[in-house]
Amino acid sequence: MKRNWHMDTDLVHGSIQPCSQTGAIVPPIYQTSTFVFSDAEQGEQRFAGTEEGYIYTRLGNPTLAMLEDHIAQMEDAEAGVAFSSGMGAISSVLISLLASGDHMLCSDGVYGCTYGLQSMLQEKFKVATNYVDMSDLKQVEQAIKPETKVIFVETPINPTMKIADIAAISRMAHQHGAVLVVDNTFCTGYLQKPIALGADIVVHSATKYIGGHGDVIAGIAVGKQDMMENIRQTTLKDIGGVLSPFDAWLLLRGVRTLAVRMDRHVQNAQRIASYFQHHTAVQTVLYPGLSDHPQHELAKRQMKAAGGVISFRVCGGKEEARHVLDSVKLCKLTVSLGEVSSLIQHPATMTHAVIPAERRQQMGITDNLIRIAVGIEHVDDIIFDLEQALHPLQQLANR
Ligand SMILES: *Cc1c(COP(=O)(O)O)cnc(C)c1O
Repeated sequence: MKRNWHMDTDLVHGSIQPCSQTGAIVPPIYQTSTFVFSDAEQGEQRFAGTEEGYIYTRLGNPTLAMLEDHIAQMEDAEAGVAFSSGMGAISSVLISLLASGDHMLCSDGVYGCTYGLQSMLQEKFKVATNYVDMSDLKQVEQAIKPETKVIFVETPINPTMKIADIAAISRMAHQHGAVLVVDNTFCTGYLQKPIALGADIVVHSATKYIGGHGDVIAGIAVGKQDMMENIRQTTLKDIGGVLSPFDAWLLLRGVRTLAVRMDRHVQNAQRIASYFQHHTAVQTVLYPGLSDHPQHELAKRQMKAAGGVISFRVCGGKEEARHVLDSVKLCKLTVSLGEVSSLIQHPATMTHAVIPAERRQQMGITDNLIRIAVGIEHVDDIIFDLEQALHPLQQLANR
């Protein structure tokens, strides 16, 4: 009898099976650029696509294939394609879906380089983009045009941590013949399954929770077999943002522990969000796991748990925020997220600095806003570190 394993079990095993030739429990890395044909006939058949098999690593590689299958399975998707970065995945997916004259709808406050890519598509290739607050379904509906081909959603979106209703937006997209692409970097399929909710393509910065250890830059896209095959044969093959087999192997190693890491990220984040909530030096806490988050109910419905990233506003302004960033010792002052260490940063002057000040203000990315990507250290140690940084502000707040 075939049993469907739990996702935790599939993350450990899934496509990562012992080597069939040697029995090595950890599959080998196929660190090779090309694959030798047995004869000219075979070479011809491989290129013609009449015989299955590898040709050249930019077109496919066994280590990459194992990663692609493993992540596709995690996301309930038919197939996947790996890329050399999250932006490699996002740019290849969007360029494959869009043509001159098309329109795209995108989450307001989307990842900075996704915004940069869309500006470039607009200027050079006449693909227009409108940005909307995806947590407001009316705005989404009103912004869809006859020429809208893609809706691109990031949820939760950082640093404001707003949530978009993936199922509702997918219905709108499909009514209008558009493709829904979801950037699932903040959750991974372990916490949120956009494909099951109706999304067509899920993209990832695998640099974050999938790799999980801060040692790889990588991306992946998953979706229907034909869409993925099309991306592989066009924007992966011809633009060439292919992942190195060694980096794919590091991701395969990292992703096996995703369930236990993510459980700890979430457990720690929930505790820290509640610690912030009760802190007199903290003005606001933005975390979907808190009952006062505006989309808490939606988050509970759509996500298994609220994730590991929290934004919070300290009492005061930029100076007070800087004090916290300069005082933490355990938390590392850096961008990125989704790794074992707790990482802290200042969106207004770092990840979101490219957004004009006035617009930033409207979006709630104020100068006193700090983002923490909670790591898997002991939660009491993280809180101890934050407390020694926040304590002096408390005295200011009390004065
Ligand atoms: C980091 C990130 C990206 C870009 O990924 P890279 O691997 O750095 O290219 C895209 N989207 C989100 C939400 C991210 O956090």
